[in-house]
Amino acid sequence: MKIGCPKEIKPQEFRVGLTPNAAREAAAHGHKVLVETGAGVGAGFDDAAYIAAGAGIARTAQEVFAETEMIVKVKEPQAGERALLRKGQVLFTYLHLAPDPDQTRDLLASGATCIAYETVTDDRGGLPLLAPMSEVAGKLAPQVGAWTLQKANGGRGVLLGGVPGVNPARVLVIGGGVVGTHAARVAAGMGADVTVLDRSLPRLRYLDDVFGRDFRTGYSSAGVLAEHLARADLVIGAVLIPGAEAPKLVHRADLALMKPGAAMVDVAIDQGGCFETSHATTHAAPIYEVDGILHYCVANMPGAVARTSTIALSNATLPFLLALADKGWRQACLDDPNLLNGLNVHAGHLTYAAVGAAQGIKV
Ligand code: NAD
Repeated sequence: MKIGCPKEIKPQEFRVGLTPNAAREAAAHGHKVLVETGAGVGAGFDDAAYIAAGAGIARTAQEVFAETEMIVKVKEPQAGERALLRKGQVLFTYLHLAPDPDQTRDLLASGATCIAYETVTDDRGGLPLLAPMSEVAGKLAPQVGAWTLQKANGGRGVLLGGVPGVNPARVLVIGGGVVGTHAARVAAGMGADVTVLDRSLPRLRYLDDVFGRDFRTGYSSAGVLAEHLARADLVIGAVLIPGAEAPKLVHRADLALMKPGAAMVDVAIDQGGCFETSHATTHAAPIYEVDGILHYCVANMPGAVARTSTIALSNATLPFLLALADKGWRQACLDDPNLLNGLNVHAGHLTYAAVGAAQGIKV
């Protein structure tokens, strides 16, 4: 199969859909890979690395779309890219169609077969192509939180790990899923005094079994949360109710309970945020202050570490990509119900119930 990888054109997107190593694997399976010139530069991969891996380099995105049978990307196709898709072509990327009727309309009109990373599942009901980005955002959260706490940024001037004779900072992580667990591990590794709150007792049992020496766990009720907010130097919001907007767990009035200059990192901001006072920020201006409390609410945190994020994403997508290329999308989806769950659009038909429900389109 001919596989194409265009350069991402969404503003501030430095990741790329294929690493040179992934291109090498595809070439070893007998596929032809065509990468747009400069596509990997933001993630630290130059054209020469792709050529060494056996890929060809195209001068334009138009060439990539016109000459290949499957397009591999990171972000949802932008309007100009959607116009280049054609009937029978396969698109494999993040789509997030539910809140995006314009994109849904264009993908249906294109006649292409569109498989969304975010709805591919695994045998345990997890989302294997979303998890790597949650791992990245989780590990970044204490790092950006520590930076936000520095005096020059308006923070409390507290070092997460403390020093001999001075207590470490207290870090509260709300939500102990993929983001929360990675955040707690890193914060504990930096020497902070960490507590993770969750609503799921099985999850709390798991965290306590595996990480009981590194951090404490607590049941996330309003009362327990208020107690921990009053003590925390850094609060990391990492809750998710699948398919729903994030619940608002910290209200504006609660900020008065907190220490002046404390920091909050709302990782759940891409689902609307779990603090009432959160609004999405960018890497260019990541923090703002409300009632003396610093807020960090960057909606695409993994973009800050585009190289790590690209490699992590490519590691997760590669087995699915190879199945699609080796067998063709139809047989690959028939053989693997988890990949079939990724199918959102085919030949002018919407094939994913939740997107249909969100947009009033029959599936
Ligand atoms: P996850 O499903 O693995 O974990 C969510 C956890 O929240 C679960 O353990 C659940 O029990 C818990 N939870 C639900 N309601 C709760 C409540 N009221 N109190 C405490 N815990 C509660 O999800 P995840 O992969 O860790 O993702 C968390 C959030 O981070 C999502 O909104 C995701 O979209 C977001 N995210 C953001 C970025 C970014 O760049 N900002 C990147 C990746 C993920």
